[in-house]
Amino acid sequence: MLKFENIRKVFGDNEVLKSVSLEVPTGKVVVILGPSGSGKTTLLRCGNYLEPPTSGIVQLDDIIVNRDKYSKRQLKLLRENCTMVFQNYNLFKNKSALENVMEGLVIVKKIKKNEATDIAEMYLQKVGLGDRMDFYPSQQSGGQQQRVGIARAMAMEPRVILFDEPTAALDPELVDDVLEVMKSVAEAGMTMAVVTHEMQFAREVADEVVFMADGYIVEQGTPEDIFNNPQQERTKQFLTRVR
Ligand code: ATP
Repeated sequence: MLKFENIRKVFGDNEVLKSVSLEVPTGKVVVILGPSGSGKTTLLRCGNYLEPPTSGIVQLDDIIVNRDKYSKRQLKLLRENCTMVFQNYNLFKNKSALENVMEGLVIVKKIKKNEATDIAEMYLQKVGLGDRMDFYPSQQSGGQQQRVGIARAMAMEPRVILFDEPTAALDPELVDDVLEVMKSVAEAGMTMAVVTHEMQFAREVADEVVFMADGYIVEQGTPEDIFNNPQQERTKQFLTRVR
């Protein structure tokens, strides 16, 4: 389980996260919704310390990273076990799909190149890119680049994957392919926290939906609870606008 405990994040005098606590149970999919600027991306980035919180505790099973006091080893373990899929893919432009997926395996996990190649090939096949492994990002569509991003996140065999608006930069006709891949990752039992504006995906795939606004969690529940029977005015307003 990935657990956020009283996470605060302040940029200058802007308190972006106001003591947020959230649990992503093992094997479950938690989808985070909310208006622009509500702190969704920042929360996700605090999850693997890409953005260190100002205070609070991030816990992944036995790995505990408390902002006040933590060891480098715990932080390294958290980062290895909590990978991320980015809105803008964040691929190395000068590396092929295969090399992009291999990078973390070789550099972070110190896996030998032959073995890393086998692992990377396996995950690229899983995302339907078995025949495009030697292509560079500039030679792939946005959807294909994002599938490389997903293969890269999976290849580390993490305990949890954080998805930060993974389809937001895609042309509409490419969105479904990526959502299908994410669905298959969820069905394989991966623990996932997903920031997205794809309501249909949230309805179908989420075990739990969290609605954030102004740096805190306004409401959370099953997709049924949130979409069909929201309790808070903020949630109702948001859902009417996005529907
Ligand atoms: P969106 O849906 O538009 O991506 P969001 O809910 O993901 O929004 P965040 O990206 O987490 O929101 O941003 C929350 C607030 O934090 C915004 O006001 C943003 O300007 C601010 N912010 C985010 N990152 C930084 C940073 N590195 N430095 C300063 N302010 C930041």
